[in-house]
Amino acid sequence: MRDRGKLLVISGPSGAGKSTVISRLMALGERMEFSVSATTRRPRPGEQEGRDYYFVSREAFEGMVRQGELLEHAEFVGNCYGTPRAPVLEQLRQGVTVILDIEVQGARQVKALMPEAISVFLSPPDLSALEKRLRGRGTESEEKIQGRLETARREMELAGTYDYIVINDDPDRAARELLEILNKQK
Ligand code: ADP
Ligand code: 5GP
Repeated sequence: MRDRGKLLVISGPSGAGKSTVISRLMALGERMEFSVSATTRRPRPGEQEGRDYYFVSREAFEGMVRQGELLEHAEFVGNCYGTPRAPVLEQLRQGVTVILDIEVQGARQVKALMPEAISVFLSPPDLSALEKRLRGRGTESEEKIQGRLETARREMELAGTYDYIVINDDPDRAARELLEILNKQK
């Protein structure tokens, strides 16, 4: 086990700043890889196939589930999301720290399979800040924003089931806190 990489699982409501903080974290440390998920959601402007997500059809996603290609998967506000298993296992074997940005049901599945995973709930300072960030991002329709805010209230109740809670008041500070959490895990 000694040379295996660490698995960092980050959850938090949509708009909490997970993508922002993860990219700051990856700029701070070495040997960290972001696990690129598969999703049936449409790409947002600026998102790149293979960098942000693998954008797939529902049929293709269901095929991946059937073939056992996903470490975990879940439905989130009308779309499917899942973590390709093989790259995660390979990077951990090579001693690389792997970062998953996944929602709460997926995080629970990963913890059950790999209890050594470090789970972190990235929380906004409060729900009104969350709403402001989600609207400020300007990537979702009003209906989707409402769905994500409703889901956020339920997700926030699960924060206490994670190993750590990090408040994203400032993305650089939150990234440094995540690095400290990683560094103190043997
Ligand atoms: P998530 O990946 O959790 O859905 P994003 O990283 O896309 O969230 O962040 C949502 C929006 O909030 C983005 O527009 C981002 O620039 C902004 N943001 C992220 N962190 C902060 C912060 N600490 N304070 C203010 N705005 C932030
Ligand atoms: P978004 O559509 O904003 O990119 O992501 C919506 C939600 O899906 C976020 O909570 C994000 O963490 C989660 N998510 C992204 N990829 C995966 C995945 O592979 N598995 C699971 N379970 N959730 C994911």
